[in-house]
Amino acid sequence: MFYTKNIFNILDFVKYLTPKSIKLELDRYIIGQIETKKIISVSVYNHYKRLYIAKKKKINLEKSNILLIGPTGSGKTLMVKTLAKIINVPIIVVDATSFTEVGYVGDDVESIIQKLLHECNYNVELTERSIVYIDEIDKISKKNDFLSGKDVSGEGVQQALLKLIEGVSLNIPPLIEKKNNQQQIFNVDTCNILFIVGGAFSGIENIIKFRINQEKNFLEQDNELSNIIEHTNTEDLINYGLIPEFLGRIPILAKFKELNQNELLNILITSKNSLLKQFCYLFLIEGVNIKFSFDSIKEISKIAVKKKIGARGLKSILENILLNVMYEFPSKKMLKNILIYKEVITMNKKPIYLFK
Ligand code: ADP
Repeated sequence: MFYTKNIFNILDFVKYLTPKSIKLELDRYIIGQIETKKIISVSVYNHYKRLYIAKKKKINLEKSNILLIGPTGSGKTLMVKTLAKIINVPIIVVDATSFTEVGYVGDDVESIIQKLLHECNYNVELTERSIVYIDEIDKISKKNDFLSGKDVSGEGVQQALLKLIEGVSLNIPPLIEKKNNQQQIFNVDTCNILFIVGGAFSGIENIIKFRINQEKNFLEQDNELSNIIEHTNTEDLINYGLIPEFLGRIPILAKFKELNQNELLNILITSKNSLLKQFCYLFLIEGVNIKFSFDSIKEISKIAVKKKIGARGLKSILENILLNVMYEFPSKKMLKNILIYKEVITMNKKPIYLFK
């Protein structure tokens, strides 16, 4: 990948991007999650402003890593990847479950920086201002084995990660070893790398409800309970199994809501690079227009809501529905238009084919 702008040479990163302009750009790609986009735009803006100040004035300000919590398919990964594009910095996405604590078989956490360095084409300066997204962070929560009272998972990995996130100087060999044995070692300081961690934290709702009931200030209405993730606080995350020292390095908490039917509909139709546009393009390159009635799109979004896999499910639903069409249409001569109406989705009827 080639990164054209060196924002820290331009000095006016602050002039060039504002929290508002970051949010506006995010709006083009990410439907809903309005508050979350605001929180993230401000934190990311502050992060790079902090870097700029640190470089110019030699003052060190605390950095603000970010934790994303929300159901699967709500846009966490998309948000982080889009951010990196807007700021024009490299990003790598890694899975927390692939790491083991030092001394055990598996990747150790330093391999994250090795991958990032590789992604940055071994440019250390670029590496040191990039973004790392660690997904599935909830899967390395501390779980006690009730019989032995011992930690049976994640705590060691959290301990290892917290050093990396806080800032440490590492000597990193290249990802791919050179043949001539002349191994160059790169010194990378992680203190300016923006770490974003995310997870679905399934089951945390019960922890939140329990706390709120104990605090006795919770409105006991069902609709209030439906968006319970919004009430998550640090205490809940600790009770879930993140260790306080780890959370202490990640002060920003951004909560993602489950996408509703209307938002899923908008993801299909209006988001930049929307799924429907992508599918239409697949047909168009063979000279065929595929059109969906509004009703049919509505039905697709209804199925996604029922399946409870958020926007992640939209693609597989579309693939399923269009399987026969995609199988048949390339061998139909003189085909011009395909019309998808509601009953194609709900009753498995055949679409309308129009020929030249
Ligand atoms: P998560 O990381 O929360 O599990 P992803 O960001 O990987 O979910 O979402 C999977 C796909 O669903 C994305 O690539 C995108 O196509 C779509 N998507 C999810 N949420 C949104 C959203 N809020 N706006 C637009 N598209 C979305």
